[in-house]
Amino acid sequence: MDILFPILTVGILGIFLGVIIGIVAKVFAVDIDERIEQVEEMLPGANCGGCGFAGCADFAKGVVAGKATPAGCPVCSPEDVVAISEYLGIAAEEKEKMVALVRCSGDIPNTVRSLYNGVRDCRSAVLVAGGAKGCDYGCLGFGSCAEACPFGAIEIRNGLAVVHKELCVGCENCVAACPKNLITMVPASAATHVYCNSPEKGAVKRKVCKTACIACRKCVKASGEEDYMEIDGFLVRSNYENPPPASLVEAAGCPTSALRVDTEHIKGAYGGASK
Ligand code: SF4
Ligand code: SF4
Repeated sequence: MDILFPILTVGILGIFLGVIIGIVAKVFAVDIDERIEQVEEMLPGANCGGCGFAGCADFAKGVVAGKATPAGCPVCSPEDVVAISEYLGIAAEEKEKMVALVRCSGDIPNTVRSLYNGVRDCRSAVLVAGGAKGCDYGCLGFGSCAEACPFGAIEIRNGLAVVHKELCVGCENCVAACPKNLITMVPASAATHVYCNSPEKGAVKRKVCKTACIACRKCVKASGEEDYMEIDGFLVRSNYENPPPASLVEAAGCPTSALRVDTEHIKGAYGGASK
């Protein structure tokens, strides 16, 4: 009999607490929108942060809440965007694929460099008199961008960062990682670029780099009536609203080969010697 009292007490207490927990769970229950989970499953799951959200789960929440559109995911293919849009019953936005472009062609054979024995990291090197490169605007080649790229799309070749555009998903992580602000996003369909970012006068650039854009404007003239190129002080850039075709490279005869087609640039085939 002595044992019955504690058993009954514990039993009644258990039932009482169970009821309380049940009521609290009911009152404070948070409605989970199952669409968030579904959209997250439909995303590529790279968690790269290129969408501006804290990760894929947060982005999925934003899409379902109407704060973002599926096209805001840089890793999603156009098919993914359509599938998610259809699932949510919203119109699928057209998505132009953007890729990173490192606006420099100054690799080791083509540039003047000074001795640098410090940490092999661009952000550290830039603090030591701007790095070891003769050109203050050029790629330091220590690969802070490559380290920041979750997709292995950037390779350091001959002391120069080059982007494998077929691997680039456009997350822009590399853009923020480059202390020289050398990386810009361009449409993946554009293939002809000016691989230089120095605003210095041509004569100054040529002293430190054989492949700099010297703003001779041959490419502008070769464009004829088309506005393929944009002039920005002592620098000419491709106009990505109307990108230059690959044939412009041949037609222009750029004396430093700063204007080149990406598939040739990645081969590292340029010497930069005057034509
Ligand atoms: S190259 Fe840049 S934009 Fe492209 S995937 Fe890598 S970090 Fe992202
Ligand atoms: S592009 Fe910028 S971050 Fe990348 S290696 Fe060159 S200087 Fe460094």
